Amino acid sequence: MNAQDDTRVIIVGAGLAGCLLARLLGRGGRRVTVYERRGDPRGRGPLGGRSINLAISARGIDGLKAAGLEGHLRDHAIPMPGRMIHQEGRTVFQAYSASGEKAINSVSRSELNLLLLDAADECEEVEFRFGMACLDVDPEAGTIRFADEEGREQTDRATVIVGADGAYSGVRGALQKTPRFSFSQDFLEDGYKELTIPAVKEGPHAPYAIEPRALHIWPHGGSMMIALPNLDGSFTCTLFWPYEGPHSFGAVPPEEVREFFDRFYPDASAVMPDLEEEYRSNPIGPLATMRCRPWHRRGVVLIGDAAHAIVPFYGQGANASFEDAKRLAEGLLAAPGDPIGAIEGYYRDRVDQGNAIADLALQNFIEMRDHTGKGWFRAKKRLEHLLHGLLGDRFLPLYEMVSFTTIPYAEARRKARRQWRTLYAATGWTTGVVILILAAVLAITLPG
Ligand SMILES: Cc1cc2nc3c(=O)[nH]c(=O)nc-3n(C[C@H](O)[C@H](O)[C@H](O)COP(=O)(O)OP(=O)(O)OC[C@H]3O[C@@H](n4cnc5c(N)ncnc54)[C@H](O)[C@@H]3O)c2cc1C
Repeated sequence: MNAQDDTRVIIVGAGLAGCLLARLLGRGGRRVTVYERRGDPRGRGPLGGRSINLAISARGIDGLKAAGLEGHLRDHAIPMPGRMIHQEGRTVFQAYSASGEKAINSVSRSELNLLLLDAADECEEVEFRFGMACLDVDPEAGTIRFADEEGREQTDRATVIVGADGAYSGVRGALQKTPRFSFSQDFLEDGYKELTIPAVKEGPHAPYAIEPRALHIWPHGGSMMIALPNLDGSFTCTLFWPYEGPHSFGAVPPEEVREFFDRFYPDASAVMPDLEEEYRSNPIGPLATMRCRPWHRRGVVLIGDAAHAIVPFYGQGANASFEDAKRLAEGLLAAPGDPIGAIEGYYRDRVDQGNAIADLALQNFIEMRDHTGKGWFRAKKRLEHLLHGLLGDRFLPLYEMVSFTTIPYAEARRKARRQWRTLYAATGWTTGVVILILAAVLAITLPG
C-alpha cells in the first residue's frame, strides 16, 4: 500500500475516458496510476468488447486537441457529412449541416483507445497497471482494493480516485453503498448486434461496397440497421432490433436471416456474404441509459459511461466522456491544493450535460428509426438548413449544435427550443403557414 499522496491520482479503467484523463493530467505534471481490469492490449488484443467503430465529432476532437492528438483524425478517420437512407430499393442522402460540409468521423474504437493509451504512457508521470480489477472503494478512507489475475488482493490509496470504468462501473457500485446516492438504469426493449459488409475488389466505390462518406441507415418502423465505414474498405453494420416482436431477434432465427434480409434489407443483403454466420455467432448487446447522482463522494469521482451511460443514437457517448475528462483535468490542474473543490466544480458543470445528452440520445433513436425515412422529416431538415443559411448563428439546428459545436448539451437543447418559439412569436400565424407550405414543397420537390 502506498502512503497517502496528495498529488497522485488513481484512475480505474484504461478505456477512452480514463486514457484521455491520464494523458491530460500527466502532461500537466500530475502523477497518475491507471488500473485496468484487462491485460495490456498492446500485447493481448483490443481492450474493449464494445462497438468496432465510433462517430467522433466536435467534442471528441476538442478533447483530442487538448491532448495534442487531433492529427490522428486527419489520418485515421473517414468523414461522414450526412446520412444515406436506404428505403424500398433506393437511397437518399441527407446532409448533416446546412453547408453540407461538416462531418462526423468514423474511427476505429480500438485504434483510438491505443492512441490514447500510448500517448498517456509517453508521459513519465503516468503508470499503467493491467490485469487489476477494482473490487471496492472506500471514499471516507480514500482507499481502493484490487484483485490481480491470480486473485491476489492489493490496496492502494490517493486523495483523488477516478472511476472511468464504464457503464457497469465498480467504483459507482461502491458509491451506491454510501448514503443518499441515487442510481437508475433503463434498458431499451431493443438490443444491438454487429455485422459486416466486407471490402470489395470492384464497383463504383471499391474497395467499399457502398458509398463510404456517409452513415448508412436502413429504417424499418420499430427497428433499423446502420453502417459506418472502416479504413480497410469494410463497413461495420449494427442491427438495432427489439428482442421480441415481429421484426426482432426473437422472430428471426439464423437459418431465416438471409430470407429476411432479402425482403427487408435487399441492397445490404447483396453485399453481406457472411450474414448467416455473423448473425449466428455475434452476441446481442443490451442498450441502457444509466444515471446517478452525485458523481462524487469526497475524493472519489466518476467520469464517462460510469457517470452517464447513454444509448448510442446521437453518437455522443465517447464525445461526452472526452468532455468530462477534459473538464475534470482542467479543474484538478488549476487547483492543486483543492482537489475536492475541483471535483465539486466538475460535477456542477457536467451533471446537467450528462442528463441532457442522455435524453437527446433517446429522442434520436426515435428520429433515426421512425422519422429519417419520412418526407416530412426530410423537409424539416431542409427547412432548418435554410433558416440557418438565412439567419446564421441566430438559428442553429440542434443536430449541428450537438455534433459540430461544444455548446453545452443542456444549453443546446434550450437554445433549439427557444429558436423555434422566437421564430414563431416573431412571425406569427401568417409566416407559420408560409413555412409549412414551404416545408411541404421541399418535401415533394427535393430528393434528399
Ligand atoms: C453499439 C455502440 C455504439 C457506440 N457508438 C458511439 C459513437 O458513434 N460515438 C460515441 O461518441 N460513442 C459511442 N458509443 C459510446 C461509447 O462507446 C462510450 O460512451 C465510451 O466507450 C465510454 O468510454 P469510457 O472510457 O467511459 O468507458 P469504456 O470505454 O467502457 O472503458 C471502461 C474501461 O474500464 C475497464 N474496467 C471496467 N471495470 C473495471 C474494474 N472493475 N477494474 C478495472 N478496470 C475496469 C474496462 O475494461 C474498460 O477498459 C457507442 C456505444 C455502443 C455500445
